[in-house]
Amino acid sequence: MKITAIRAYQVDLPLLEGSYKWSGGNSVSVFDSTVVEVVTDTGRSGWGEVCPLGPAYLPAYARGARTGIAELAPYLLGMDPLALGEVNRRMDAAMRGHPYVKSPIDMACWDLLGQEAGLSVATLMGGHVGERFALYRAISQESPEAMAGRIAQYRAEGYRKFQLKVGGDPDTDIDRIRAAATKLQRGDVLIADANTGWTQHAAVRVADAVRDVDVYIEQPCYSYEECLAVRRHTNRPFVLDEVIDSLDAVVRGIADQAMDVINLKISKVGGLTRARQIRDLCVSLGIAMTIEDTWGGDITTAAIAHLAHSTPERFLFSATDFNSYGSVSFADGAPQRVDGFLAASHEPGLGVRPRLDVLGKPVLEVTTA
Ligand code: MG
Repeated sequence: MKITAIRAYQVDLPLLEGSYKWSGGNSVSVFDSTVVEVVTDTGRSGWGEVCPLGPAYLPAYARGARTGIAELAPYLLGMDPLALGEVNRRMDAAMRGHPYVKSPIDMACWDLLGQEAGLSVATLMGGHVGERFALYRAISQESPEAMAGRIAQYRAEGYRKFQLKVGGDPDTDIDRIRAAATKLQRGDVLIADANTGWTQHAAVRVADAVRDVDVYIEQPCYSYEECLAVRRHTNRPFVLDEVIDSLDAVVRGIADQAMDVINLKISKVGGLTRARQIRDLCVSLGIAMTIEDTWGGDITTAAIAHLAHSTPERFLFSATDFNSYGSVSFADGAPQRVDGFLAASHEPGLGVRPRLDVLGKPVLEVTTA
């Protein structure tokens, strides 16, 4: 099998709730997603997706993804997409860094591998564990009362894991965590995700003020060193996210006992190949994971589902179903949330059939023809 063309499609993903707000006054109301089609000489195509959380969250932005794919695609034409190691080495040799550019291409090659093998990506990644896995629900940053009110609403939808977007004024954030905690029922999980928004001293204050609350603290500060200092001050279970952008970062974090859980985002680490490598290391060394991506629609949600569903349950802290946050569906066969749970498709590959009537014409095509 040879790659004969790489196409990219642009799709807007409006949020059902209007907007999504997190630390630093950041918000997004319509996500700009890029769908990638890796076309082969067999007539088969593989599909991937990348959708940064706006340009201010990580060193990634939507138009950068498309520019980077145009830059990288000529190096991949003629390659065997099923040779995932070779594809990743070629991408790394042709372009230093920019993991989010490489992620949808790697994802599309996994889709092709599964289609060709007649096996789901979850099967190729270790097998579907059980029938389904539990999701968390992100709670957009609002007043303490409004955020606490969301807990009952989302629990009624079937979620039992709630991630509060904090990282704002520390006094208000203490109120947010305490107000939300009063709404919890036995078995619920509460996470306070600051998304790098606190200074080190503010983070120590907040963590100390909620030391009697059953809450996880996620990525309090911008740098790894600041987060490590906060970690060493707090007795709360601790999650690292934004700074965990590579296998190296995971190894360092484990060596320093810097976290109990990592947030593993597929595009942040460069695709499913790298995400699986990190997932397997964490399983071997006892670190639990939230498995997700920066954002996305049907294809990203499918890719998350395959990686998460093939992860041993005790190490899968939670996962995300982005396609239920948005109002646009662009692929048939994508997993759909039932209560607070998701399951990966047993169809070959990612199991998605993109709808070209929704995606429209490609905004980019690099081809041998
Ligand atoms: Mg996070």
